[in-house]
Amino acid sequence: MSSALRERNRAMLEGGGSLRHVLGGTLDALDERRTAALDELDDAERLRDLARDLRRSSIARLPELLERFADRAEAAGAHVHFAADGQEARAAVIAVASEHAARLVTKAKSMVCEEIGLNSALEAAGMRVLETDLGEWAQQLDGEPPIHIVGPALHKDLTDWQRVLAGAGYSGPSDPRAMTEFARKAMRAAFPEADLGITGVNFAVSETGTLAIVSNEGNARMCSGVPSVHIAVMGMERVVASWSELDVLLSLLSRSANGQSSTAYVNLITGPRRRRDEQGPEELHIVIVDNGRSDLLGSDSQEALHCIRCGACLNACPVFRHVGGHGYATTYSGPIGAVITPFLSHEPGASELPYFSSLCGACTLACPVRIPLHELLLAGRARATNGAGAAERTAWRLWAHAWSNARVYALSGAGLGAPASASLLPPPFRNWSKGRTMIRRRGSTFRARWKKGEVLDRT
Ligand code: SF4
Repeated sequence: MSSALRERNRAMLEGGGSLRHVLGGTLDALDERRTAALDELDDAERLRDLARDLRRSSIARLPELLERFADRAEAAGAHVHFAADGQEARAAVIAVASEHAARLVTKAKSMVCEEIGLNSALEAAGMRVLETDLGEWAQQLDGEPPIHIVGPALHKDLTDWQRVLAGAGYSGPSDPRAMTEFARKAMRAAFPEADLGITGVNFAVSETGTLAIVSNEGNARMCSGVPSVHIAVMGMERVVASWSELDVLLSLLSRSANGQSSTAYVNLITGPRRRRDEQGPEELHIVIVDNGRSDLLGSDSQEALHCIRCGACLNACPVFRHVGGHGYATTYSGPIGAVITPFLSHEPGASELPYFSSLCGACTLACPVRIPLHELLLAGRARATNGAGAAERTAWRLWAHAWSNARVYALSGAGLGAPASASLLPPPFRNWSKGRTMIRRRGSTFRARWKKGEVLDRT
């Protein structure tokens, strides 16, 4: 693991006590609500199997479905732009914005826009961007990226909210209702003034060229419907074959994301406003972003493209719970982030993200579309170690062989007892042992615990 990555995590682990406290409570609540919402279904497991099969089939036909989606969307009056990478995607958005001399942009939460760094590009081009999702607005005011793909500010407590909103002029009580009302008024004033609305896309229905955009705050509807120009930015894997597939995925998305049977708003958009429509944008542009996704197609990690961005694997992940999304320093965090980021980003340390996992498999169990995340993390680790030298590979092979034997294990540092054993281990094992507690066990008790996997406790 690179020293930058290690340093970042050490800082998060050492200084993140309150973060872990707030995050842990929220993630526990989300996980409980997810389980309860799935339990309400007659046969949630069958639905998850169906979702897996539908995603597998659609991603296997991705080029064909994308082409059909683009044809149908254009036939409905939309302009479709294909962007090979972030630079092309930003250029496409800025070209449309410049053509309309846009100055104020209202924007709904979108992870792909985060991925391509759209806000800073728009601001550099002279535009003001207002995030209209409440949590995303708080993060924008605070100068922080989102901490979670579903809840951008779910690590913030009431004190944080009061501090952040004070920067926008709030001087009321520490009361969530009053703060939300303040935010609502600020948004409402901006929507009619905006020249351009930008949203992400949850799903794109190939058979009709329709965009499906979900939200709980109604802001995506305001961003897509009020300004005269709407730009929807989507990762190319968002495409689904049919309305039947959309139906299944929407049902699982809201349940897995926050335990709702449905989000408050499901916006279905086919083309821009028509002559008989009273409202809606005069122009709709759809920017379809590749940015490394083609490299996932046909790879051993293709199933990562099945992801519906529900965030359930983040909530279940013990590593995410310790360091939060900012510990990854990437757009996508948690298990799915650790799998896809090495394909989407060439930043230093990206290839090492699969090591941000205990491989406990909790992510795989939580995933509504049954992506075998722990296997994809292992595949990512194998890719990351392809460059290791012969000496390093031999050392790790010997270590694995030795510690696979209970007697040798007992004779090694682990058998000497904690905490002295950690300091007795030679490098690089000394670093590895930091943050872990070695438990001394002998004889039958030791063997029994070894078999049960209890010998090495992670703290
Ligand atoms: S990998 Fe699965 S659990 Fe994680 S965000 Fe994607 S769909 Fe949700």
